[in-house]
Amino acid sequence: MQSQIIKESFDTLVVGGGIAGGEAALNLANNGYKVLIVEKDLSIGGKMILLSKVFPTLDCAACITTPKVSEISRHPNITIFTKSEVKNIDKIGAKDFVANVTKQPRYVHVDDCTGCQLCEEACPVSVTDQYQFDLVGRKAAFIPFSIASPKVAAIDIENCTLCGACERACPTNCIDFTQEEENYEIQVKSVVVATGFKLFDPLMIPRYGFGLYKNVITSMQMERQLAPTRPFNTVLRPSDGKMPDNIAYVLCTGSRDLSVGNPICSQICCMYSIKQAQLIMGSLPMADVTLYYLNIRAFGKGFNEFYDQAKGMGVDFTKGKVAKITEKENGNLILRYEDIETGKVSESEHDMVILSVGVLPNQDANKLFSKEDLKEDRFHFVNQPDILASPAKTSIEGVFVAGTATGPMDIPDSILSAGAAASETISYLSRKK
Ligand SMILES: Cc1cc2nc3c(=O)[nH]c(=O)nc-3n(C[C@H](O)[C@H](O)[C@H](O)COP(=O)(O)OP(=O)(O)OC[C@H]3O[C@@H](n4cnc5c(N)ncnc54)[C@H](O)[C@@H]3O)c2cc1C
Ligand code: SF4
Ligand code: SF4
Repeated sequence: MQSQIIKESFDTLVVGGGIAGGEAALNLANNGYKVLIVEKDLSIGGKMILLSKVFPTLDCAACITTPKVSEISRHPNITIFTKSEVKNIDKIGAKDFVANVTKQPRYVHVDDCTGCQLCEEACPVSVTDQYQFDLVGRKAAFIPFSIASPKVAAIDIENCTLCGACERACPTNCIDFTQEEENYEIQVKSVVVATGFKLFDPLMIPRYGFGLYKNVITSMQMERQLAPTRPFNTVLRPSDGKMPDNIAYVLCTGSRDLSVGNPICSQICCMYSIKQAQLIMGSLPMADVTLYYLNIRAFGKGFNEFYDQAKGMGVDFTKGKVAKITEKENGNLILRYEDIETGKVSESEHDMVILSVGVLPNQDANKLFSKEDLKEDRFHFVNQPDILASPAKTSIEGVFVAGTATGPMDIPDSILSAGAAASETISYLSRKK
């Protein structure tokens, strides 16, 4: 049976509730425009809400994101659909758009859930936790993470055995297995695409041993180990829970590498690796940290000083291209690399390796429009046809783009880009009036 289609209208549809989408929505809402944010995940906040501290200031990411996310979620001009998907967007008439949006069931009534976590305690099913990047487990009834917005439980129906333990434990009776998807037809005057980026999958480079050697992890997994809401109370290597004392970073994993189809620089990996190295030295003062790099790109405000600070703290920078990683019986890892300064092939031993994975385009953006053509640049990010004069403009009139949907960038640049998208949208909407 076809479920009922709910019709609503807004001034702007923002697709993606990361820092760029949230900031664009907030700017629009503060100027009196009604905004709908459609976010596919269970919480808004994107990748930033899961970071530890941010370069180059080492401010706590959660301390910046949490008030921002709370302002966005409480704003009277902003409506948020989480766990929702834009099926397609079409132009109607010369200027308006209609979007078909599907809200997937969470199996929990959001307004009644207090976030008490009693359902989590009762649930007997454990699976890996995607919000801790598979470092630990979570239950099938779960709150995504402690600073999620909304901080409300969800049922992972694919792994749920329907045993009913969560329903029995819930003090507010808000778990509801009869929930179905809801379909919306949303009329809007403008669209902001803020679908963000994807992380390079290191399984694409089998010679680095990710997925095979437990002590080879990604930079996002290390972010979680360093975050205040981290899975363990310190930095641990996964194979045996030992505190590592000789850690290596492999920069440019999946960036500037035509052999994996990504020739461009990810712009953030040098700086987040330098940040993590400093945080590790704070967390494990006896540990040695070596960054294997091709070039250090410390181009932003305060970045070079941040790089110098890391060198001053004793972080070792080795200009070298890592060819292969192998594992010893004790779980330690041997890095075979070309020392670029001497031209010699060398080997070194570390007890943990972090792959500084790069930024890839999220090609969801290009699938949003069924009849119009949201053009991509040659690297499959959303194209900016007038990048110098009007950086948020896209190939479709009335559709703007914010943040890393246009290419790799850090948080300050994502926020600037979101500001540009909001102001170009406001100027477009006022011209329409
Ligand atoms: C390991 C690591 C460490 C970092 N450390 C720093 C740092 O210290 N300082 C710094 O400045 N930057 C750092 N960054 C970069 C920072 O994460 C990005 O600049 C920032 O997250 C970009 O925000 P965004 O909103 O453009 O994208 P995202 O964070 O990717 O958000 C996009 C949002 O859109 C949603 N979405 C995607 N597709 C759809 C769809 N089809 N429908 C609905 N919703 C959708 C996603 O679920 C997500 O919530 C780091 C990045 C990494 C990987
Ligand atoms: S019904 Fe599903 S989510 Fe609830 S406790 Fe049982 S397995 Fe967990
Ligand atoms: S679903 Fe019920 S038990 Fe679970 S967090 Fe919400 S109120 Fe608590």
